[in-house]
Amino acid sequence: RPRIGVLALQGDVREHVFALEASGAEAVTVRRPAELDEVDGIVIPGGESTTMSKLLGIFDLFDPLADKLSDGLPAYGSCAGMIMLASTILDTRPDARHLDALNVTVRRNAFGRQVESFETDLEFTGITDTAGAAPMRAVFIRAPWVETIAPEVEVLARVPDGPAAGRIVAVRQGNVLATSFHPEVTGDRRVHEYFVEMVRR
Ligand code: GLN
Repeated sequence: RPRIGVLALQGDVREHVFALEASGAEAVTVRRPAELDEVDGIVIPGGESTTMSKLLGIFDLFDPLADKLSDGLPAYGSCAGMIMLASTILDTRPDARHLDALNVTVRRNAFGRQVESFETDLEFTGITDTAGAAPMRAVFIRAPWVETIAPEVEVLARVPDGPAAGRIVAVRQGNVLATSFHPEVTGDRRVHEYFVEMVRR
């Protein structure tokens, strides 16, 4: 079993721990730099990205984590986690720092008032595109979207319809995976299984 850490400073840590355990991984929480040396991959949960950024500094985790990511540690970020992994953030606080592991521009709280929180079914490349696979239920909670991507970034999912139709909400760049939505709250383990498989390879 791969050993996967969940960054446990803030956010929906428990949900990711449960989802990873249900997906064939050993899940451990990470709060200290030394704990980063003991994991094969890291999940950055949903929560609040500017708070998470502050806590990464306070816990002396920011630089060790950024270094691990640039050395190729596999990472998955959901929602605030996606924001933390990105290289450029729109609509954030000037002092918020991010890990620069994913070459995309992300807009925080992108979906606006009408649809700040919503659910939809979507297609996810590599998961729902096999024969007989059901679409994925995606839960968005004050979610970001990916506004632009570098050529090396693969788009895995877009919003299928409604006012935000076509917006990018899941991406992968090498060992780094990110979703705007929260698969950890739906009971659909396929995104976590996908990440566990990424870590295994
Ligand atoms: N709006 C939050 C942020 O900016 C993210 C919301 C979430 O993770 N559900 O960090």
